[in-house]
Amino acid sequence: MWTEGASADAIELAHRQVAAAAAMLAQHRPAGGGLCSCTRQLPCSVALACVRVSERHSRLLGLTHPTIVLPLVREQAPGSEETPPQG
Ligand SMILES: [Zn+2]
Repeated sequence: MWTEGASADAIELAHRQVAAAAAMLAQHRPAGGGLCSCTRQLPCSVALACVRVSERHSRLLGLTHPTIVLPLVREQAPGSEETPPQG
């Protein structure tokens, strides 16, 4: 069975970790000038850590809950930060 090895506690923990990571990521957005909204330089180490935590735990949830909604924030390549539309 797919859930073998993933206890209910582990799934619950994974859900919490993904939710916590998503909440933290909401406070770490590209703010322009190569800076995160928390004033760190991009890529923000905190945001990256959140993405890793979220991905690691999402993988566990993905095995048992295929329809889980994944966070939209992704690690960005250097120089590809978002810029507001001109004009
Ligand atoms: Zn940040």
